[in-house]
Amino acid sequence: MMETQKSYEQLAELDKKHFLHPTTAIKQQQATGPDFILTKGEGIRLYDLKGRSAIDGLSSLWNVNIGHGREEIAQVAYEQMKTLGYSSCFATFSNEPAIKLAAKLAEIAPGNLTATFFTSGGSESNDTAYKLARHYWILKGQPERKKIISRSQSYHGVAMGATSATGLKPFRDFTNSLAPDFHYVDHFSPQALRDKIQEEGPETVAAYIAEPVQGAGGVHIAPDGYFREIRSICDEFGILFITDEVITAFGRTGTYFGIDHYDVAPDMMCFAKGITSGYAQLGGVMISETMHNDFIELSEGTLLHGYTYSGHPMACAVALKNLEILERENLIDNARVMGEELLKGFKQIQSERSIVGDVRALGLIGAVELVKNKDTNERFPEPLAPKVLAEAAKRGLIMRSVTFDNQDTIVFAPPLIINKQDISELIQILNEAIEAVESKAVSEFN
Ligand code: PMP
Repeated sequence: MMETQKSYEQLAELDKKHFLHPTTAIKQQQATGPDFILTKGEGIRLYDLKGRSAIDGLSSLWNVNIGHGREEIAQVAYEQMKTLGYSSCFATFSNEPAIKLAAKLAEIAPGNLTATFFTSGGSESNDTAYKLARHYWILKGQPERKKIISRSQSYHGVAMGATSATGLKPFRDFTNSLAPDFHYVDHFSPQALRDKIQEEGPETVAAYIAEPVQGAGGVHIAPDGYFREIRSICDEFGILFITDEVITAFGRTGTYFGIDHYDVAPDMMCFAKGITSGYAQLGGVMISETMHNDFIELSEGTLLHGYTYSGHPMACAVALKNLEILERENLIDNARVMGEELLKGFKQIQSERSIVGDVRALGLIGAVELVKNKDTNERFPEPLAPKVLAEAAKRGLIMRSVTFDNQDTIVFAPPLIINKQDISELIQILNEAIEAVESKAVSEFN
């Protein structure tokens, strides 16, 4: 026990001194050091150096869909690394796992998405999508089509293009110079897209991009009919429709892809995270067969876009095994059924707790909003979600809060292997954590 304590402190010191953390409040990190130094993951649970365990209520970063600690994945990575640890895919080079994965994706993807460009993650996938869309219009003789339109509460990543496309302002305000030709529209209004296209001039717009379910922006589920209207507006003005499925692909929402709920297909699709369940760094962009054929026919030179790790053999081998597990264990169906259980639990909490407003879920992605007044949706003067998070962590549940744009929301995306008993445990801890914050908040702010 003493030994563990000591090594935690030593590591925490080194962390503070040398590790510039992603998406982290830097003063707080310096004051407290890392809270969780994770040592092990197994199933839906994480374990840390202080000897604690917790349910991984967000599948870490919405990505560990098949759960932690899968031997089979480790084995496949080991075999691939031993045989061919790396292979270029530039020019005339290729490798078997990358070829097989691209073919598998063509089989399962919505609509007629048939060809994949591989990246190392979601941000690279977004930058790739914008570049491919613009290059496509150059090849089609319409080089003035450069503008990318996205939604006001969207999150598309942190590369320069992805940051520029991200609707959430704090991410754009982090730096003071962004990529040009990005525009934003209200997130649930097809009319806003139509107006924006007309204002900018349809002949200048390359593509519209949207997450099927807005994840980092607060888990906003599109109203029925939204994406059908979006698809028809894009068709009317000849604009490419891109879905950012970085969170929603590979079963998260209870269907293979998030857009499958809406009965439409995109021209391009970004993915990452769930393709390997986080076991290896991999993402990609799929394009339609029509676009692919146009590229083949019209491209005279080289497709001058490629990452060293595009089509990484180990990452692709891991992805193939991950998809095999997803299908073999019926995890997409499980996500749908357990998603209904999760929502039932949220509704029970909503009926018991005075500070719970809207609750929602689509498959295993969901949100619980905290409000001062259930009838008017009035918020507390300061968000309570971070306090609920702290209470939940003490009780063995890790979640995420969203406080942008006057939101006070807790978001969830547990691993797709979760069962009924685990959901009951999650709901019970959540209810207790909200209760712990509720009485204090009500007396303080009333
Ligand atoms: N797009 C969406 C919809 C995302 O949720 C994320 C990550 N949360 C990204 C892009 C960026 O992915 P990455 O962090 O792998 O670069």
